[in-house]
Parts: sequence; structure tokens; C-alpha cells
Amino acid sequence: RDKKDISRSLKKRPVSRRRSCEKHTKTETFQDNITLPFSPLLTDSFGRRHSYLRISLTEKCNLRCQYCMPEEGVKLTPRGQLLSISEIMTLARLFVREGVDKIRLTGGEPLIRPDVLDIIAELRKLEGLKTIAVTTNGMNLARLLPRLKHAGLDLINISLDSLVPAKFEFIVRRKGFHKVMEGIDKALDMGFNPVKVNCVVMRGVNEDELLDFVALSEKKPLEVRFIEYMPFDGNKWNFKKMVSYQEMLDHIRQQWPNLEMLQTGHTDTAKTFKVPGFQGQMGFITSMSDHFCGSCNRLRITADGNLKVCLFGNSEVSLRDLLRSGASDAELLHTIGAAVGRKKKQHAGMFSISQMKNRPMILIGG
Ligand code: SAM
Ligand code: SF4
Repeated sequence: RDKKDISRSLKKRPVSRRRSCEKHTKTETFQDNITLPFSPLLTDSFGRRHSYLRISLTEKCNLRCQYCMPEEGVKLTPRGQLLSISEIMTLARLFVREGVDKIRLTGGEPLIRPDVLDIIAELRKLEGLKTIAVTTNGMNLARLLPRLKHAGLDLINISLDSLVPAKFEFIVRRKGFHKVMEGIDKALDMGFNPVKVNCVVMRGVNEDELLDFVALSEKKPLEVRFIEYMPFDGNKWNFKKMVSYQEMLDHIRQQWPNLEMLQTGHTDTAKTFKVPGFQGQMGFITSMSDHFCGSCNRLRITADGNLKVCLFGNSEVSLRDLLRSGASDAELLHTIGAAVGRKKKQHAGMFSISQMKNRPMILIGG
């Protein structure tokens, strides 16, 4: 059967969801077309298997990006109410046991958390966890990279929104352009592959640098990822400031008409392209103009311990409170399974999202 048939039949027959203590089932889903054990608890009512967990390590940051951190700042959760390393590990262990094979550490800025190396080293010990990734603003990266690699880090995404130092400072409201570039170069030198560079594209701010970012991938084996500007609380999003995937692509194609589209995996979020002859490539994260909710395999845990099943949904459940009330693994899994079961088919669309109450991005962990 082809992917569409399987997907259609899954939609007709809702996937049966069982209680935590029941055994893993062997199922075939449209997400990968191969038979693998996967927890029904992490499979939602649309057949999506959630094998990728993003954990926010902190609400703090050493930058103040306009699209992420509200101008007036955010009210920080008291330290005692944030997840400790042992709570993070308890949850990570549970999720990995249920089939999560990739964990990304994010924030705030994950590399300012003092125990980040210990967290990575502990995660590395989890059998079944194939990939440990970090998304960072790159400010502390060059200094930490050898220790991050030694602790077991596999993948790095580095955020960089401008190649012009003064504009970088305007966007992130701090200095640091050269430190980030140093971090990117060091990641490449140390053989991280791929090194992804995340660039949030905003009209009137950095859309004039698209071609320069693509050119960066000529000599460096980077994947530059252009991210559509998304609305979150306090980030002053408006439709006119968003540059759509199609617009970016049209612009880039005028310079490089022979752009090749590359094959991607079913759960990959980026549409990827390559200029023939360039060492690197580019990707587009089209969450606003062409969402990929149908193949979403992500769950998120905020630094204060809430499980968020959708980046753009405001329903959350506190795993921290459950943990601290002495809940058993089975009880935790039951709550997690119920939250996954309530996950909506897709997000509400950018205009509704922009009117909706959610967290500022810095308190979610992108
Ligand atoms: N501090 C780290 C960093 O900047 O890479 C990790 C946290 S940051 C919230 C994760 C990613 O979300 C970054 O790549 C950032 O560019 C992206 N991001 C934040 N706000 C966004 C927005 N409004 N629209 C699109 N992407 C956004
Ligand atoms: Fe900090 Fe990252 Fe948000 Fe920028 S995008 S303010 S670096 S958390």
C-alpha cells in the first residue's frame, strides 16, 4: 500500500490507545512504513508517533531576540519550580522507554545552564536514545564544544539571523556576532554533521540577506534553514512582517535558477534545496504558509515541567507537579498518554494563533 492509502485507512480506523502498563504493539504506520515497536501512548488519534522530545533547560537567555523575547522581558519561574537534572532524567527515561529516540535540548539558551554537560552525559547512557541535539544561539559554543562532544552530543543547530554585525546586534539586542560565527566554524572543524544554521526571516529586517546566507553554504558544509516568522506572545508578529517560503524561494531562484529540491524524511520539517556545486544546502521551515502538522512527531517539555503536545497550542499538563506528588511511572505515563491523545490534528492557522494566548517562545523552547 502506498503512504496515502495507509494514512487514509488510519484516519478511518482510529488507532487503539491502551493504558501505560500494556505492552508495546507492533504496528505499521504511514510515518515510516516499517514495522517497529512503538508505544500506543505516544501515538495520537491521527496515527502520529511521537518519537522526538524537545526539553527546555532554562527560561533564561544571554540574548534578547526581538521575535522571541518580549521587549519588557518575561517573568521568570523561581528556580525551585524548574525541573532539576534528576527530574529531567526521570522523564527522559520514561519517554525513551516508550519509543522516543531523539531528544533536543533547547530553552532559553540551553548552554547557560550550569549542568548542561551532566545532562547530556546522563542522556547518553539511555539505551534506545539515538540522537541528542542542541539548539543554541552559539554565544558559548566555541568554548563548550569539546566538552559537549565528549559528553555525547550528536547534533547542533545554531541560530543566526544576520551576517551584518550591527544588524545582528539590533535583532538580538546584544553584542556577540563574532562569537556565534566562531561557534559555527568550530562545530564544522570538529566534524559535526550536519551543522544547521537557523535564520528567522523578517520583512524589513533581514530578508535582504537571503542570498548572502545561501552563499554562506557555498564553501561551508552547512544547512542554512530559513524559518518563517511565527507569532508568539509578546513578539509583535504581524502578517506583513512574515516572509513566506514561496517568496523566499522565488527570490533565491532568481539568483540560482538550477536549485535542486532534495528528498527528505517523512517527519522532517524542512523543505531542503541545494545549489549544484555548493558544499552545503538550505532548508525552509514553513510552519505558517505550509504547515507539516500531519507528520508531526514532536513533544515538548518546558523548563518548568509542563508537557506541551503542540508548539502552537496552549494546552499543557504539569509533569513536574505529578513527579513531586510522588506519582508512579504508570501514573505519569497515563497522564502523558492522555495529553498525546488530545493532540489536535493541526494548528489553528497563523491568524488565529496570533490572537491566541500562548507563552512567549523563550518560555516554550522552540
Ligand atoms: N536560544 C536558543 C537559540 O536561539 O537557538 C534555543 C531556543 S530558541 C527559542 C529556538 C529556536 O526558535 C531558534 O532557532 C529561534 O530562532 C527560533 N525562534 C524563536 N522565536 C521564533 C519565532 N517567533 N519565529 C520563528 N522562530 C523562532
Ligand atoms: Fe534567546 Fe534563543 Fe530566544 Fe534568541 S531565540 S532570545 S537566543 S532563546
